[in-house]
Amino acid sequence: MSARTILIAGNWKMNASIGMAEQLTGALTAWAARDGVELLICPPFPYLVPVNASIANSGIKLGAQTCHAAVSGAHTGDTSAEMLAEVGCTYVIVGHSERRTDHAEDDATVKGQGDAAHRAGLTAIVCVGETEAERDADKTLEVVATQLAGSVPDGATAANTVIAYEPVWAIGTGRTPTEAEVQDVHAAIRANLAERFGNEMADGTRILYGGSMKPGNAAGLLALADVDGGLIGGASLKAEDFTAIADAAR
Ligand code: PEP
Repeated sequence: MSARTILIAGNWKMNASIGMAEQLTGALTAWAARDGVELLICPPFPYLVPVNASIANSGIKLGAQTCHAAVSGAHTGDTSAEMLAEVGCTYVIVGHSERRTDHAEDDATVKGQGDAAHRAGLTAIVCVGETEAERDADKTLEVVATQLAGSVPDGATAANTVIAYEPVWAIGTGRTPTEAEVQDVHAAIRANLAERFGNEMADGTRILYGGSMKPGNAAGLLALADVDGGLIGGASLKAEDFTAIADAAR
């Protein structure tokens, strides 16, 4: 039995509306009040404040989908980690593959964002994962190791950092690696963390799986020895699916 608390994190991406956010959080708070699994939701920036009000006293955590490395300044359109903390976030996702692709964020950028998260007292969820071509070329472990080395801040601890393994080809596609493949990558990530940060940090750090996790495959994935939760996109937009995934983790 792992001592690591399971984290079920919902990445809403650029979806929802105020009305939908209210509906979704209403259903989630009703569920969370009866259960101890750690739930996290990461809505778009404009909904952080109303969602934070909706989840008050529910135990559900609030996170954002990215942040800028700087505290403040001339960075039009960006949001600092300090601002996220001020409106109630305790987590921030950094290095999601959609950010790496759409906004050309490289490992150094992601590491800077992770540093910023730590500076602001947030837990950084650092995303890594291979493309389909890289998997086909048998480069998965090499790619993930390079991303970990480049993206995970030097100040990472088990408390301030979560790793999300998200094969790019599994995100939003309905396809997933086999459970054995997921476990292999997660074990390699933990070994990599142990080498750089020591066994205690590696043993305590949560490693989430992300990529088409849904109620039908969650139990098998979440039962794997080195899978400590899920980062969920599409299925986090339906309360019954998101809570079914959380139920599968118990
Ligand atoms: C994600 O975007 O982090 C993700 C895992 O998406 P989905 O669950 O829709 O594959």
